[in-house]
Amino acid sequence: MRFLVLLGAPGAGKGTQAMILAQRLGLPHVATGELFRAAVRAGTALGREAQQYMERGELVPDAITVDMLLERIDRPDAGEGVILDGFPRSRTQAEALEAALLERGMAVDRALLVDVPAEDLVGRLSGRWVCRLAGHPYHVISNPPRIPGICDVDGSALEQREDDRPEVVRARLARQLAPMQSVVEYYRARGVLRTVDGRQPIDDVTRDLIAAVETVRPGA
Ligand code: ADP
Ligand code: ADP
Repeated sequence: MRFLVLLGAPGAGKGTQAMILAQRLGLPHVATGELFRAAVRAGTALGREAQQYMERGELVPDAITVDMLLERIDRPDAGEGVILDGFPRSRTQAEALEAALLERGMAVDRALLVDVPAEDLVGRLSGRWVCRLAGHPYHVISNPPRIPGICDVDGSALEQREDDRPEVVRARLARQLAPMQSVVEYYRARGVLRTVDGRQPIDDVTRDLIAAVETVRPGA
């Protein structure tokens, strides 16, 4: 059982790393942003509710987000653990996760902060393209696809996210950095936080994350 949380500002590289770690460690990748986007595409009540917040760059309210996340981690494929990407994003969410895991006899083993300075984030987000099928992330400069406009992994078309437009990026950074910092402090206080330099090339960030995870002993 390994319960890992990836933390970082919007654009820090959480999704990129979570997908690689999920494959390497054989754990499901659970991204609340992807769950919300799937709900928006499906046109569900949850999707309609979440969309209002996402398009303004605000956090979706905690109650909605926590319910959705707990439903996801109770599915059988999460039995051996999970890599959480984009959750928790507030202290309230962190507390709700801790309480829910405690009920299930579990705890967060590692909270991994992918640390990127604020001045790099706008460039990361404005150059991001993601695939339509699964949200695999690319970057026009730092991480281009092999064939322009096409996902290397599944061949689907690349598109820009609605909330990566400059005005929404500004709102996301203005609203989301402080709550993220409160989550970082939450895990630091519990002794499970490890920080990795997210300005390095993608492979080097992965190497440092794996090293931080390998020091987790089962049951420790
Ligand atoms: P990024 O990877 O760029 O940080 P995400 O895909 O994780 O963005 O999230 C997109 C949007 O979905 C967020 O800006 C926010 O509106 C919403 N969202 C995702 N996760 C959460 C969460 N844990 N709590 C509240 N809102 C969330
Ligand atoms: P997050 O999920 O934290 O919002 P992403 O994984 O989507 O971040 O990455 C944001 C953008 O930065 C993407 O365009 C991605 O290709 C690019 N990126 C990710 N990691 C790195 C890195 N180590 N160096 C440079 N660019 C990166």
